[in-house]
Amino acid sequence: MEIISNPQELQTLCLMLRSEGKKIGLVPTMGYFHEGHLSLMDAARKQCDVLIVSLFVNPTQFGENEDLDAYPHDMERDSILAEEHGVDILFAPVRDDMYFDNHSTWVEVPDLAANLCGKSRPIHFRGVATVVTKLFMTAQPHVAVFGQKDWQQLAVIKRMVRDLNIPVDVQGHEIVREDSGLALSSRNVYLTEEEKAVAPNIQKGLQKMRDQVAAGESDAAKLKQDLAAFYAAAIPGSIIDYIEIVHPENINILKKVEDSALCAVALQVGKARLIDNLLIKV
Ligand code: AMP
Repeated sequence: MEIISNPQELQTLCLMLRSEGKKIGLVPTMGYFHEGHLSLMDAARKQCDVLIVSLFVNPTQFGENEDLDAYPHDMERDSILAEEHGVDILFAPVRDDMYFDNHSTWVEVPDLAANLCGKSRPIHFRGVATVVTKLFMTAQPHVAVFGQKDWQQLAVIKRMVRDLNIPVDVQGHEIVREDSGLALSSRNVYLTEEEKAVAPNIQKGLQKMRDQVAAGESDAAKLKQDLAAFYAAAIPGSIIDYIEIVHPENINILKKVEDSALCAVALQVGKARLIDNLLIKV
């Protein structure tokens, strides 16, 4: 496995690989790998000749009071895991490699960024769309794999690729969870033992909502209210950022659950902001 930090070097190499007819797969990450990241790598590995994983904690997607400086990292462990999962190139730039001091070009998908995480993190998806565009231009992938845990992010990137005619096959991969049901996240390291014990109730609550829908409840306001009450009791001390039911593709807020709907939640549990979602099909 080769480790590259210079975007120009990666781009030159990837343009050459493409001209040789090699199929390139990319998995963008912020590192501190867990089984979720590794499952994306495995899925991409099966489809390409050259697998590139980017490891970059992108500052432009973090707000001022967020955890950019505290974000967990362990480059040595990550490189070993990446190599074990068949990664050919680990692209690990530093901030100055990726952004000029006077960087001034942004990619925005405002329609899809208005709700959910975009509401509480107003610059987040602008940062994500911009860095993913830069990664696509640098790594020249044919295929890029993203996790459905960040459902809104995946929707933003799919829309961006469609709107800008970017020739990348953007694929979503199912959420990898602990046996408890807790979605794996690099931010789970912030949880105390007590918080970790109750955090699986995030997913349990979503499943209860799905059961309620299956039993005939379709009023989104009622479903959200019941879920908020469940979280208040089952995850004491947690602060709900949002509980929302949206259209899975355009992320518009739904009043009735009639067809396919995505229930997405974000909760602050101690120091960790945790997100999860469940696709509900009526
Ligand atoms: P991150 O390093 O958190 O930016 O995540 C990098 C990629 O891994 C994103 O596409 C995430 O959606 C995906 N990912 C993170 N956690 C999980 C998970 N538990 N299951 C599946 N994919 C995940």
